[in-house]
Amino acid sequence: MPDSNSIRRPTAVVIGASAAGLFTAAVLARFADVTVIERDRLPDGPEPRRGVPQTRHAHVVWSGGVNAFEELLPGLTDAAVAQGARLVRIMGDMISRAPNEVWFRRFLSTHHRNLVCSRDLLDFVLRERVLGDGRITLRQATTARCLEGDATRVTGVRAHHAGKDFTLPADLLVDASGRGSHAARWLAGLGLPDVAEREVNAGVTYATRLFKAPPGAGDDFPLVNVQANPAKAPGRGGIILPIENHQWLVTLAGTRGGEPTAAPDAFVPFALGFGDPIIGRLLRNAEPISDVVTTRSTANRRRYYEKMKRWPEGFVVMGDAVAAYNPVYGHGLTVAAQGALAVRDVLRSTGLTAPGTARRLQRAAARPVAAAWNLAVGQDAFYPGASTTPPTSMERFLARFVDRAVETGARSPRAMGALLDVMSMEKPATRLFSRDMLVPMLFGPRKPHLQGPPLRDDERAVIQP
Ligand SMILES: Cc1cc2nc3c(=O)[nH]c(=O)nc-3n(C[C@H](O)[C@H](O)[C@H](O)COP(=O)(O)OP(=O)(O)OC[C@H]3O[C@@H](n4cnc5c(N)ncnc54)[C@H](O)[C@@H]3O)c2cc1C
Repeated sequence: MPDSNSIRRPTAVVIGASAAGLFTAAVLARFADVTVIERDRLPDGPEPRRGVPQTRHAHVVWSGGVNAFEELLPGLTDAAVAQGARLVRIMGDMISRAPNEVWFRRFLSTHHRNLVCSRDLLDFVLRERVLGDGRITLRQATTARCLEGDATRVTGVRAHHAGKDFTLPADLLVDASGRGSHAARWLAGLGLPDVAEREVNAGVTYATRLFKAPPGAGDDFPLVNVQANPAKAPGRGGIILPIENHQWLVTLAGTRGGEPTAAPDAFVPFALGFGDPIIGRLLRNAEPISDVVTTRSTANRRRYYEKMKRWPEGFVVMGDAVAAYNPVYGHGLTVAAQGALAVRDVLRSTGLTAPGTARRLQRAAARPVAAAWNLAVGQDAFYPGASTTPPTSMERFLARFVDRAVETGARSPRAMGALLDVMSMEKPATRLFSRDMLVPMLFGPRKPHLQGPPLRDDERAVIQP
């Protein structure tokens, strides 16, 4: 006779109803009854909330992320597009200057796209889709306090709601509570050793302001991106994201000694003062419609849970709670979705309650984490004071190689395709060493680099003389 455990549907609890929590909940619902607990009360529309302050700043989703969104939740991208999001062709719909100060040509031959909209809109569409699934229960205004269980097995979470503490039992507990996660402390509280952690902090400050798109700028205006050069600290750069409702979400960024401030009058002058003044010049005639908001929550910080010698059954950490990246590289959402896909793939072949499943899940989720980590740290390790350990000779070699790859991609559509496969997290970094990159890198053609931003005449007309 089957025992009661083998016939009941497993239960899973997910801490955090932001991107990583919702993507993971969507996957887990195929295998378990899922409860999502969220500290905030969630808004009914595309509005900001306290628990995800980063949503005020520019977010893009690279095509590796868009592909993962679609695999997890088919039609999600169309739902965002129906509400005003755009799938921006990289590089066709972009004006982009690389960290090594090379302007990319607007090649149309690559298939890569960025999903562009306000983060509040994306989160709203995602919430509607995931929390509309009858197998998922949301408990909002509920805060996770600590783990239940012992060093061998996590059995649930101790949570707090409306002045009362209570326990939610779970066969699998997922911590997707973001950068501020307490998972390391909670595990130590169960008697597990400290988790190894690394931080590489370029000291980036973000300052963001919303503008009405200026006269003459259509809804198809290109995304404009000037990236900071790590070889010339302080690094300064910025991005104009044309988003829904004919608005421009503009984020400026600067590393230590070159930080933007929240002073409204300093916003456009800052943008006029870095590498290339294109962003400042485009903003001169745009009407600001918000204050300037800033954040310094931009360090690359990774916790190596997948390498811990002991790992309890029934517990997994996902998303920014495992690793958060310098947001200028725009990879957090892609890792959240690809991590959820990794969870799906493990659970397709292993029972959710089978011994060792949690450890397998943690290791699988670490793969996209490592890919994004290497891309970000490969650049940021070169900023003064970013890390207590200087870049290794391998990191130096790779950084030089990536510079060459960027230069080659700026001249050759074939190389650009390989570069974008990696930057968009569609393919592993080894793609940079493929024939598509090496042949143009070694044998040309040696077209001269563009001397300025590749604006079309109608786009240039938006700039005030
Ligand atoms: C300034 C900035 C810009 C960024 N730009 C980009 C970008 O362009 N592209 C990109 O892909 N990524 C970007 N990111 C990263 C992206 O925002 C995150 O990777 C993404 O939100 C996924 O994070 P998460 O779901 O793991 O955590 P979060 O989004 O931080 O969400 C954590 C959730 O957990 C809840 N929570 C926290 N503690 C508790 C608790 N104890 N109990 C219950 N609930 C709790 C919070 O309220 C929140 O809802 C950016 C990040 C920053 C900081």
